[in-house]
Amino acid sequence: MIEAIHWREECGVVGVFGAPQAAEWVYSGLYALQHRGQESAGIASMDGGRLLDYKNLGLVSDAFRGGQLDRLTGPSAIGHVRYSTTGRNTLENAQPISVSTRLGGVALAHNGNIVNAQELRREMEARGSIFQSTSDSEIILHALARAQDATFEKCLAEALSQVAGAYSLVVLTSEAVYGIRDPHGFRPLVLGEKDGAHVLASETCALDILGATYIREIEPGEMVRLDASGITSWQLFPPSPRKCVFELIYFSRPDSIVFGESVHQVRRALGERLADEHPAEADLVISVPDSSNAAAQGYASRLGLPYELGLIRNHYVGRTFINPSQAVREQGVRVKFNVVRSILEGRRVVVVDDSIVRGTTSRKLVKLLRRGGAKEVHFRVSSPPIEWPCFYGIDTPERRDLIASTHNLEEIGTYLRVDSLGYLSMEGLQLVQRQPATFCYACFGGKYPVPFKGMPTKLSMENDLEGEKHPVDSTP
Ligand code: SF4
Repeated sequence: MIEAIHWREECGVVGVFGAPQAAEWVYSGLYALQHRGQESAGIASMDGGRLLDYKNLGLVSDAFRGGQLDRLTGPSAIGHVRYSTTGRNTLENAQPISVSTRLGGVALAHNGNIVNAQELRREMEARGSIFQSTSDSEIILHALARAQDATFEKCLAEALSQVAGAYSLVVLTSEAVYGIRDPHGFRPLVLGEKDGAHVLASETCALDILGATYIREIEPGEMVRLDASGITSWQLFPPSPRKCVFELIYFSRPDSIVFGESVHQVRRALGERLADEHPAEADLVISVPDSSNAAAQGYASRLGLPYELGLIRNHYVGRTFINPSQAVREQGVRVKFNVVRSILEGRRVVVVDDSIVRGTTSRKLVKLLRRGGAKEVHFRVSSPPIEWPCFYGIDTPERRDLIASTHNLEEIGTYLRVDSLGYLSMEGLQLVQRQPATFCYACFGGKYPVPFKGMPTKLSMENDLEGEKHPVDSTP
């Protein structure tokens, strides 16, 4: 997805119980999940009932540059890498969020987005709650602190019964680490084991870096407790799975198993299906590296065309979308890719990307390919047109800025200046899924599985604080 500057990453979480120095394991896990968020990183650990934490802005390696990891002692820890989907990128909004409650010290790390966060926050503030951040995740901790049940698990369940939307959580207490997925299971969360210690992580690539064995996914609506006696599981809410299909199309790492499926294999199958639907008379197929590599390979192999590396990504440029400054983003687009002229010169080229968001970057890329000598450029997209914003943990532009919501196929092709354009159909996408009815497709069709009032934006909380009015669109 070259439009990543406009379609921003979400977050990654890790939790460990039972390791000699759990924070070190969490650090490694976060390192593997760096693609899920580059704005801030943090770890909280528990040592003999003492809650210790450290968080900072930047990449994991930068945030923990000063040896802070050494003081995060203890056998249990959780961690978080963040791209802000609600609230600005400030240190107060970094996670884990640590608080002291009548139930003891608690730290929480959240991947997802709470769609009723504004309403809940207004209610809580009216009843005297004081928030330290503008992150939606803090609301869960306030609800937890107010809950009056006898056990921590019941209090957590009561708190979560108030929130709607997407949450894959890891929670640290003095005795345990918890992993919880919302009833729809929008975001992934997996469980693994190594040397008797248990690990929770957003993706299996975080288990792999630790040499941990993958046990299973946490189920939608499930809560697991990892403690000295092992694993205990509760089905907190009846499952109603609507897993984010974009985790498979773009977000997750290709070497991960997400929602029980190999991300690489799913992407390859999407490319094959795309070739069936939109073949092209061409000399070769290239990908927009790296997230589209597997789809391009699938497309090429289905048509018997050579798959070549016609576009080279500069891996030493920070992922462009992590930088909130428009000026730097523009610069990032120009320096991020280069072409291999000897491959493109005089050839008819199919370029496969996983999605088009605004279209501006795709257009620049087509220009780059033509300057690199491509005789024809046929653009193929391994997902259907994105016409609706996401409210479940992915920072997307407003609807009017999504090119497919304002332009038809022909107009998009003209804008991109391509010789032909083809998107994978919804039917094609669903044919590739093993259980298509268990996925969310709202950004393609506007059918949102969890309703919300108006159209919350990333900065809704700040706008509330500043007394601004939000544009309210009709809920689809
Ligand atoms: S709206 Fe799109 S990106 Fe958001 S959860 Fe649904 S499928 Fe994923």
